[in-house]
Amino acid sequence: MSEIRLQDNFIDIEPYVAGEQLEGDVVKLNTNENPYPPSQMAVDAIRNYTFDSLRKYPRSSSNELRRALAAEQGLPEDYVFTANGSDEVLALAFRSFFNSNMPILFPDITYSFYPVWCKLLGIAFTKIPVKDDFNIDETDYKVENGGIVIANPNAPTGIGRGEAFVRFILDNNKNVIVIMDEAYADFAEFSAVSMIKEYDNLLVTGSFSKGRSLAGLRIGMAYGSPELIRVLDTVKDSFNSYPIDMLAEAAGTASVLDRKYYNECCQRICKTRESAKATLEKLGFYVLPSSANFIFATHSKVDAKSLYVFLKGKKILVRHFDKPRIDQYLRISIGTDDEMECLVKAICDYLGKERG
Ligand SMILES: *Cc1c(COP(=O)(O)O)cnc(C)c1O
Repeated sequence: MSEIRLQDNFIDIEPYVAGEQLEGDVVKLNTNENPYPPSQMAVDAIRNYTFDSLRKYPRSSSNELRRALAAEQGLPEDYVFTANGSDEVLALAFRSFFNSNMPILFPDITYSFYPVWCKLLGIAFTKIPVKDDFNIDETDYKVENGGIVIANPNAPTGIGRGEAFVRFILDNNKNVIVIMDEAYADFAEFSAVSMIKEYDNLLVTGSFSKGRSLAGLRIGMAYGSPELIRVLDTVKDSFNSYPIDMLAEAAGTASVLDRKYYNECCQRICKTRESAKATLEKLGFYVLPSSANFIFATHSKVDAKSLYVFLKGKKILVRHFDKPRIDQYLRISIGTDDEMECLVKAICDYLGKERG
C-alpha cells in the first residue's frame, strides 16, 4: 500500500535552454556559431580517415589531440584535458573541483548553464550581481567561497577582461579552484592560459565550437596543472572513458595545426563585429563593448522581445533572454558581412527608416 508514485523517483530539474536550431533558409545569429567553414585540413582528416579503425574504441585520453593543443600553447601534454564539448569539460570540472561546504561564486549575468550544473550536481552557489555597466567587479570575489567560475569574455555581454582582473581573483582565492571559461578567447585580446604555470588553482576551459567552426563535432578542452588534469581524468573515467570519438579527434587535431586559417577567420569576424556595432549605434542602439563573436545591444525606443519576434518572422534568428536586467537586450552572433547587412536591413524596416 505504498503511496509513492513512479514519478516521485524522477529528478526535478529545469534544464539549460539552448538557442533554437531552425531548419531551412534562416540567417542564424542566435547561438554564436562561426559563419565560416572549418579548416580544409579538418575536413580532409575525416575524408581520408581509415574507417576500419572505427571498430575499436578510441584512446581514452585523446593523446593526439592533447599533444597538438599542448604544443600550440607551449605547455607539456599533462597540462591539457579534453572532452565532448566544453559543456562536458565544465560539468566534469564542477564535479571534480566544487566539493566544499561553501557556495561557489559566479556573476548573476553569465552563461546560464552554471546554475543548471550546480543543481544537477548538488553544488551550492551564490550569484554576484555585475555592476550597472555589466562589468564584473573583481573585488566582490574577495569573500570566502567554495570555488569560482567566470566566463571571460563573459556571455551574453561579450565583455572581456585582462590579466590584472584574472590575477586579482586568483591571488585572493588561493585555496579554491578558479575556472576561467574561455569559450570566446579566440576573439579576445587576453587568455589566462598564459598564467597556468603560475597558479595551481587555475583551470582554463576552451571550445572548438566558436573560434574553430566545429560546434557539430563537440570538442572542448581545459588547461591546468597536472594535478588538476589528473583529477579531471579520474572523474571522466568514472563517467565515460571515451568522450571524444575518433573522427572528432582526427579533425580536431588537424584543425589545431591550421592556426593560420582560424586566425584569419577570427580577425574577419572581429572586423565585422566592429562595423556592425558602429552601424547599430548609428541606428540608436547602445552596444556593449565586445571581445567575443557576438554583440549585446539595446535600444531605448524599441522593445527587445518585439524586435526579436519581428526578426524571427523575417527568418533572422537572434537571442533574447526573458531574464531580469537583460530583457531589453538582444544577443546577436556575428555572421558574414552579408548576413549582418540582411539583419541591419530588417532592423531598418522595423524602425521604419531608411539607412544612411
Ligand atoms: C558555447 C559556450 C560553451 C560551450 O561550448 P561547447 O564546446 O560547444 O560545449 C561554454 N561556455 C560558454 C560561455 C559558451 O558560450
